[in-house]
Amino acid sequence: MEKHPKVLALVAHDNMKRDLAEWVDWNSEKLSRHHLVCTGTTGKMVERTLRAHHAERETSESPAPELEITLLKSGPLGGDQQLGSLIADGKIHALIFFWDPMSAQPHD
Ligand code: PGA
Repeated sequence: MEKHPKVLALVAHDNMKRDLAEWVDWNSEKLSRHHLVCTGTTGKMVERTLRAHHAERETSESPAPELEITLLKSGPLGGDQQLGSLIADGKIHALIFFWDPMSAQPHD
């Protein structure tokens, strides 16, 4: 674990989830050093992507890292508000939002 892990929030609209999965896979080593907070559906995908990434590289000398991921409710079902509350309380260091301006549900 990094000396000063941050709390990073990750959210992706449906049309951007595939892009976020690619980005998470590319940045797996760095992201896994931090506590991740995600809206529900995004979080399941982030967790799956990180576990798959580490499973491919795991060896007995270099075991997969412990992941710290908090899954909020699905965005449209309250997860966005939960995240907003965490941001308002100063508990999130950075939000990475793969935003789709054409989203049918512009609840960002
Ligand atoms: P989701 O929510 O991760 O549950 O899909 C994201 C969003 O707010 O659109």
